[in-house]
Amino acid sequence: MADKKRLNILEKQIDEINRCFRCGLCKTVCPSYEELKIESASPRGRIQFAKSVLTAGRPLEGAIQARMLDCLNCMRCAEICPSEVRTDRIVLAARAELARKGKLNIIKKAVFKTVIRQPKLMNLGARIASYGQRWFYKGNEILEALIPRFAGMGDKHFPELSHKQALNKWPEINPPDSGKPVMRVGYFIGCATNLMFTGVADATIRVLTHNNIEVVIPRKQACCGIPVYSSGDYKTAKRLAKMNLEVFSGQNIDCIVTDCASCSAALKHEIKELLGVGPFDVPVYDLNEFLINVIKIDRDLGEVPMKVTYHDPCHLKRGQGIFREPRELLQMIPGVEFIEMKDADRCCGGAGTFSYTHHNLSRKVGSRKADSIRHTDARFVSTPCPSCKMQLDDLIYHEGIEARTIHPVEILDMSYMNKALSGGHKIVDCRSNKYDHSVMGEK
Ligand code: SF4
Ligand code: SF4
Repeated sequence: MADKKRLNILEKQIDEINRCFRCGLCKTVCPSYEELKIESASPRGRIQFAKSVLTAGRPLEGAIQARMLDCLNCMRCAEICPSEVRTDRIVLAARAELARKGKLNIIKKAVFKTVIRQPKLMNLGARIASYGQRWFYKGNEILEALIPRFAGMGDKHFPELSHKQALNKWPEINPPDSGKPVMRVGYFIGCATNLMFTGVADATIRVLTHNNIEVVIPRKQACCGIPVYSSGDYKTAKRLAKMNLEVFSGQNIDCIVTDCASCSAALKHEIKELLGVGPFDVPVYDLNEFLINVIKIDRDLGEVPMKVTYHDPCHLKRGQGIFREPRELLQMIPGVEFIEMKDADRCCGGAGTFSYTHHNLSRKVGSRKADSIRHTDARFVSTPCPSCKMQLDDLIYHEGIEARTIHPVEILDMSYMNKALSGGHKIVDCRSNKYDHSVMGEK
């Protein structure tokens, strides 16, 4: 019981823990239990471990620590639990206790204490790293094979960093394409979109301004905090949340929109419910939700002939109840042949940094998703989450699937462009899975 006074974050979960009546229903859906096949790796097992820490004074180490870290935070257990137990929250509280004891992964600790708190430094570091990646790493088969292995990540495929981050690419104020703005929106660009997937940010800004929205991109915005609090560092996550609250207040905006499923979950719910900070003084919307439910978008669309399937990010479907909107968006585009994959809402195994820290388990969980994708025979896998995109890209590469990932907004953007090009040159060659990047203005 020596640690008791230092366990107050976990103690706040005691009612949640006590609501579990050990029925075991959650075991039928938990991806980590499905692979590890041990009771302690089930949601019920993790709850009993957390209880033993609080009530029997068992130390938060060894197998207990391992089980708190190998949960994917996918919320499938919470979705099915008849007692509405949030095992994911119990696990996060346990991780917060681990971080307070200094048991945070050493690389994460260094990143969270330095660059992630300083957006300017993060952008600069990413820019320098992007050149290093291009000059020394990419195409060097020895380094590409050795570095992930030495880092304990097996044959993990690293995504490519962009030379010019989205935050530095677009002006702070982006007026609508024509006429008076119908709305002034604050665009929250998640770190992965900003540093790696800048084409998604380009598409988001083009689609919003096409729909007569004025897009404000505050330069000083910081990370949404999800990789930080998911790892247990609540202190840094709170600091980031406060930075974002300050940066977005006083912008005279009607709402905040983000195209990253994890960021919208963090900004809408977690900063308030988990960290006790916020909420924002204007509503926060996921981009799919905003385009389908909030504004009347231009439905005069051009044809985009492509066969597409869709993967539900856990934090969008279970975290925010958004699954109909991206499907509606994809299916309204002429030429899109939409194929629903089996278990579209099953976790892909990415879970942010989990795919790096628990590479083998992540890959095993992901291979079930890869099978679902393969069976659709789709050439494009659409998902509005950069973390899922990274995992799916890795799976597609290693499993030899002939497909590529794409954000729903990128397809909508192509549709508007194809309409503007009035049936001439098509941006998507539907016979392959390639863009015409020159038309998209990408490198
Ligand atoms: S489904 Fe809910 S009540 Fe049943 S064992 Fe799992 S967490 Fe406990
Ligand atoms: S959040 Fe997902 S991985 Fe974690 S215990 Fe629940 S079902 Fe299992």
